[in-house]
Amino acid sequence: MDRRSFCRTTLSASIAAALPMLPGCEKQVPVAVKVDTAIRGISLSGAELELEKAAVRELGESMTGPVLLSGHPQYDSVRRVWNGMHDKRPALIARCMNSQDVSNAVTFAQERELLTAVRGGGHSWPGKSVCDDGIMIDLSLLNAVSVDPEVRRATAGGGALLYGLDSAALTHGLITTAGVVSHTGVGGFTLGGGFGRLNRKYGLAIDNLRSAEIVTADGKVRHISDDNEADLFWAIRGGGGNFGVVTAFEYQLHPFKRNLLSGNIVWPVAQARDVLEFYAEWYPGKSDELYVGPTMATMPDGTGIILMEVVYNDDPVAGEKELAPLRKIGKPMDDGVKMQDYLVMQTQQDAAFGHGVRSYIKNGMVKTITQELIDAMIESYVNDPRLALFTHTAGGAVKRVGEMDTAFPHRNAETMIIVGGGWLDPADDESVIAMSRERYQKLEPYTGGYYDNIDFDGAKAINNYGPVYERLSQIKGAYDPMNLFRLNSNIAPAT
Ligand SMILES: Cc1cc2nc3c(=O)[nH]c(=O)nc-3n(C[C@H](O)[C@H](O)[C@H](O)COP(=O)(O)OP(=O)(O)OC[C@H]3O[C@@H](n4cnc5c(N)ncnc54)[C@H](O)[C@@H]3O)c2cc1C
Repeated sequence: MDRRSFCRTTLSASIAAALPMLPGCEKQVPVAVKVDTAIRGISLSGAELELEKAAVRELGESMTGPVLLSGHPQYDSVRRVWNGMHDKRPALIARCMNSQDVSNAVTFAQERELLTAVRGGGHSWPGKSVCDDGIMIDLSLLNAVSVDPEVRRATAGGGALLYGLDSAALTHGLITTAGVVSHTGVGGFTLGGGFGRLNRKYGLAIDNLRSAEIVTADGKVRHISDDNEADLFWAIRGGGGNFGVVTAFEYQLHPFKRNLLSGNIVWPVAQARDVLEFYAEWYPGKSDELYVGPTMATMPDGTGIILMEVVYNDDPVAGEKELAPLRKIGKPMDDGVKMQDYLVMQTQQDAAFGHGVRSYIKNGMVKTITQELIDAMIESYVNDPRLALFTHTAGGAVKRVGEMDTAFPHRNAETMIIVGGGWLDPADDESVIAMSRERYQKLEPYTGGYYDNIDFDGAKAINNYGPVYERLSQIKGAYDPMNLFRLNSNIAPAT
């Protein structure tokens, strides 16, 4: 069964119907650089730069992958990122195929203090992986995933996508935590933390990261782990793209039966209070094997729904037993929880979150789903297919890692609550963003900190990183004192 069929056959994958459908990504083909004119660039401080033709040509010749300039037939498709709100035009795009290419591109940028964007899977909500007039270091050709089943490890290129990681691991009866939309990049996803439907059992993606290959601002290729440059390895586990360009991630894998009890239970939104009140009382203390997360959305025909995503990662008989009370709540419109391939769940939202959708998002970390938060969730519901309220469930193994053990400090949260908007018409930008903000304002008082990886406005790194910020800033100062890697949730280098 192909990926599209997965989406179509999962009738209860109602989220997929709740946001507009758009075409998938295009296949990229390498081409050679051609430099005829001087190129205008922009520096890290915003000053205009002239990029010498000879130097750009030299960069192109030094790389295995191509360097693209405006006017090249592939330039527009490569500069495009997932969120259609961002339409930026880099001065040049270095399409890297190995760590030496990345090193050459980083050195080119660093020597000129050229504004630098690093593109993994291109799914940054605020569009941090592309810039106007700077260099885009594009990793999308560096996307291979290999698995060593003997030691249960997977190695993914810095531009690999989650589908590649999931499917390569599953081939060997193994898995690690990956996110819920399979065309997201492993790069940004992992560096920011990495939530997914298996995180209660296996922890976040960063908790499974065993080593990485990274090109730092000085152009050096480093192999980092707990045993080698441990400070830097600590920093990339939650500190985002601040510290360099990661060209390879090595993950721990776990034995896994891909056919598992999973699916969605859907109720009319009128039953949201019953469902959420039950969930808030019932879910805490459930096993790490059980992942259940609510979504409130509006179908394209205007039907309001509350949906629970379910994945039970163990013996289905035990899962049925644990899940039984939830299935008895109210009168579901649809109960799609059954034995099915894990990739059905992992791809069910791919089409709904198609490339090119215009999107805005806010989120906050929640320790307890209180009665007040439930009231706010219901009060903030808007009957509009362009808006939805999602959650990422945490707890379990995520919570058992110490606050300072990685650079992701929000370990005590049980849930992440997310308000998102997705639309197609640029004329709707202002109104949908305003509605999303208004909706989130009602929820924010019940949150503490947010997940940098899925926030649109997140410019408050210092507050949000809290207790780990000081150490991050020291490490940033040691490895990137000029703040070359600034297009991210930025950490100021300590001087
Ligand atoms: C549809 C959708 C679904 C999502 N679902 C989940 C989910 O289930 N769980 C979750 O935790 N998050 C989720 N996210 C958030 C996601 O993790 C972030 O948007 C993440 O930054 C995307 O990574 P990317 O490589 O695709 O993005 P990019 O836009 O390429 O990069 C994002 C940031 O990371 C940097 N970066 C990317 N790759 C590298 C690299 N190899 N080395 C150094 N820096 C790099 C970029 O410079 C940029 O600052 C989702 C996002 C979207 C749009």
